[in-house]
Parts: sequence; structure tokens; C-alpha cells
Amino acid sequence: MKVGFIGLGHMGGAIAMNLVKAGHDVTVWNRSPEKAAKLVAAGATLATSPANAAQGEVVMTMLADDKAEEAVVFGDDGILNAPALHVSQSTISVTLAERLTQAHKGCFISAPVFGRPAAAEAASLFVVAAGKPNLLEVAAPLLRNVGQRTFHLGETPSAANLMKLCGNFMVMSAINSMGEAMTLGEKGGIPPAAMLEILTESLFGAPVFKTYGEILVRARFQPAGFAAPLGLKDMTLASSAATTLETPMPFLSAIRNNLLTLIARHGPDIDWAGVALVTRENAGLTASPLKA
Ligand code: NAP
Repeated sequence: MKVGFIGLGHMGGAIAMNLVKAGHDVTVWNRSPEKAAKLVAAGATLATSPANAAQGEVVMTMLADDKAEEAVVFGDDGILNAPALHVSQSTISVTLAERLTQAHKGCFISAPVFGRPAAAEAASLFVVAAGKPNLLEVAAPLLRNVGQRTFHLGETPSAANLMKLCGNFMVMSAINSMGEAMTLGEKGGIPPAAMLEILTESLFGAPVFKTYGEILVRARFQPAGFAAPLGLKDMTLASSAATTLETPMPFLSAIRNNLLTLIARHGPDIDWAGVALVTRENAGLTASPLKA
């Protein structure tokens, strides 16, 4: 399929590479063009503008936040009036997804993903897609090359964005609770690795505990696979949706605050799993890596 891909960061670069490997005719665009080099070497074409990347059947976006998505869609040489079907994989606000649906006159799909960059490379992400059934059908062959499974969540694109924000709230909650449990255990003499093994081999065998538990035990917070400021963006978007839908979420407020503390103390170049450091520091432990 002739497809454009816009946004070649940690996630987008890996996803676009899988589309190239799957044999699609891929045209890429990134604000910082040097990130396209590997893809061009692998057979992708470098577009001169977002609109130029959206001349095929589908254009996919995987951008940092609302501001980036707005720039690429509504900005100079944006994709708004280009012929391609827009499939947005970015984690953006519910409000922006609604605006994009209107602006694209319904010809728009939201398809955000669960999974970190390693899962993007392995094409094992989980995709949550929402939009009109005929449009979902057009995007299906591409989404099959992105992840191991695509969930369809009805015809309203913004529902997929709300789903993604709910999921990320739960991921952040899991990281926070593990960080607190491991700190408590460590202060009482239980090695974090032993705690992780017992938890994940008994009641907590879910991928989220295994993946992030390993990151906590090994203190792999840098380089960031999912940077803390992007996590903060997601908790802020979830909070905004909770306000709109009149849903008090006290845990969400607490973990958003922890993420903010992490960034204030350690700077933006740290994985959001680093919230475990905040708990350690608050408990009087040093910010040194958690050890087995
Ligand atoms: P990233 O590595 O920081 O990449 C962000 C991308 O957005 C880059 O291509 C960047 O371009 C572009 N961008 C930022 N501001 C822009 C602007 N104003 N105009 C145009 N382009 C702009 O982020 P990522 O980790 O790939 O995440 C991308 C999206 O996926 C985010 O919405 C994130 O929440 C979501 N997500 C991430 C993960 C994860 O584990 N990393 C997992 C699931 C979902 P430059 O290269 O020029 O900076």
C-alpha cells in the first residue's frame, strides 16, 4: 500500500521501519529530517512536507502531543486537505481527536498503541482503533504490521484516545504501586528482585508488572524509552478528560504529582518509570539504582 508516515521518534521510527519491511511503499516525514536516514536507506522515500507525505491511500501520524499533531495537520503544508486517510497513532487529547474527526469530515481514525519502543520494533504492540468500519478496513493491513492485535472500539475515533489515556493511567498506577512496595520491602530487607519474582510468578503475572518491574529492579531509567514529560502529558490529558466527564480520580492526581516531582528533581531525560525514585527519595533512600 502507498502510505505516508509522519513522526519518526522512538515509536514512529520503529513502526515505519516495519511498514517498509512488510513491503509497503512508504513516504516519511519528520520535523528533524536526520531521523529519516535509516528508513531512507531501507527503501523509504523522504517527503518534503507533511502534505507531501499524505498523497497515498493512508497517512499515519505518531507524534509527541497535541501541539505536534496540530502543527502537522493544520500548519503550513499540513495534511488536512491531502487525499490520504489520516490514521493517528499519537497519544493525544480526546478534544483534539474530536476536532480532527470534524476537520477531516469523518475521514479519520484514531489508533493509539500500548507497548514500549521494543514492542514497536518487534511489531508486537496492541492497537486500539476507532472510526468508521469501511475506514478501519482500509487501515487494517497496515495495523497488522504494527502490532500483534488490533482492538476495534466503535465508530467514534476519540473513544480510542480515551481508552489509551485510561490504560496509561493504569500503567502509571502499576509502576507507582510497585515502586512503593519495592521501597517498603527494601527498607525491611527484601531484595527488589526477589519481590519482583514472587509477585510476577504468583498474582501479578501481567506484562505491565513484568516489563516495568524489570526496569525498576535494574534501574533502567536512562535513556528513556518513554520519557517522563510524555507520561506527564498523558496524566494531564487523563485529568482533563476526568474533569470534562466529572469523574474524581484522586490516585490520578497523586501520580501526576509524583511525575512532576520526578521531572523537577531529575530533569526531562528520564523514563516515566523513574517515579519509583521519587518514592525511594521520600523514604530517605538515596537516588542510587535499586539493587537486587
Ligand atoms: P519521541 O521519541 O519524543 O518522538 C516524538 C515525535 O514527535 C518526533 O518525531 C518529533 O519530531 C515529533 N514532534 C514533536 N514536536 C513536534 C512539533 N511541534 N512538530 C512536529 N513534530 C513534532 O516520542 P515517542 O516515544 O515516539 O512517542 C510518540 C507518541 O507515542 C506520543 O504521543 C507518546 O505518548 C506515544 N507513545 C509512546 C510510547 C513509548 O513507550 N515511547 C508508547 C505508547 C505510546 P523531532 O524528531 O523533530 O523531535
